[in-house]
Amino acid sequence: MKASANVAIIGAGCAGISAHIWLCELHIQHQIFEGKKMGGMLNRVYNTIENFPPRHYANGKALAEELDQYVKKTVCGDQVSKVFIEEEITKISKKEDLFLLESNLGTVREFTHILLATGTRFRQLDIPGYKKSADFISQSTTYSAPSVAGEKVLIVGGGDAAFEGARILLEHNCDIVLSSRSEYCARPEFVNYITKSNSASLMELGVLPVEFIPNKSQIDVIFSNGKKDSFKKVFVRIGVDPILPALFSECKKDERGYLRTDHNCETSIPGIFAIGDVSVAPLQSIATAIGDGARAAKAIQVLTR
Ligand SMILES: Cc1cc2nc3c(=O)[nH]c(=O)nc-3n(C[C@H](O)[C@H](O)[C@H](O)COP(=O)(O)OP(=O)(O)OC[C@H]3O[C@@H](n4cnc5c(N)ncnc54)[C@H](O)[C@@H]3O)c2cc1C
Repeated sequence: MKASANVAIIGAGCAGISAHIWLCELHIQHQIFEGKKMGGMLNRVYNTIENFPPRHYANGKALAEELDQYVKKTVCGDQVSKVFIEEEITKISKKEDLFLLESNLGTVREFTHILLATGTRFRQLDIPGYKKSADFISQSTTYSAPSVAGEKVLIVGGGDAAFEGARILLEHNCDIVLSSRSEYCARPEFVNYITKSNSASLMELGVLPVEFIPNKSQIDVIFSNGKKDSFKKVFVRIGVDPILPALFSECKKDERGYLRTDHNCETSIPGIFAIGDVSVAPLQSIATAIGDGARAAKAIQVLTR
């Protein structure tokens, strides 16, 4: 090896966990930092997972727990790796050939390589009343649909998530209003299914909520056309944004802010790798995130040999 690698993995979703498993396998020194909980986005997946072979999982949490158990039982010990849960990396800077990582606990550590596996966060609406309406807002139709069965609900969004959510809510006999800022970009079969339903009303494109007013048992919504309506719940399904620490303003990104990487998952800053949902990819999925973790770990081994 040139200089012995000491790698920081930021984020313990499936990309970060996979990198951890592979760095253990390759005996490469590393530490993994997770600001919240092992499993990342999986903890917010309420649908069944049927496309990560060979098993089906009842939901993302079931897979996250299995991965957590696997990591605890089978991967390398303290000499090669350390796992820090509930430690969030707040700053990354460069010092000669090394990267300095600062965390919310005030610690500063040095690393030769960084594997950024920070994933994405759900987009929110930036309108008055949004924050104080948390009880009336949901990002998951699978999770919230049973609690609003038969009620009138608003869906904001025009992509697959919005229309698939609408289908689930229709199955729960909800009365749906859907607001989209632009032309629908969901699969045509999803859009057709919703358009044909008598229980779904699609607002004129571009008419959006401009204010939320939470009440005791429902939320009043004022729209950009001046109209007001009341709902039991609002489902905000307007996509996700990548989570990037400050240093990454220097990295090359695509027009949506995702990190561009090469075939090794390395970004435009040598030594920094981006894996899973935070990087530009044709698909955001468990399988691709796990594959990225393996690819980046192997690349670090080859680059430092
Ligand atoms: C509703 C829904 C359903 C889905 N269903 C499927 C499905 O059926 N099949 C499928 O293949 N995929 C599915 N996906 C996609 C899949 O869940 C993601 O592609 C995958 O989980 C991404 O993994 P990741 O490791 O890249 O990111 P994440 O899982 O988002 O993990 C990122 C982690 O980084 C941590 N983090 C962020 N910033 C910091 C920081 N500064 N310091 C420390 N830690 C930090 C976060 O807390 C998080 O734990 C679904 C996604 C959603 C939202």
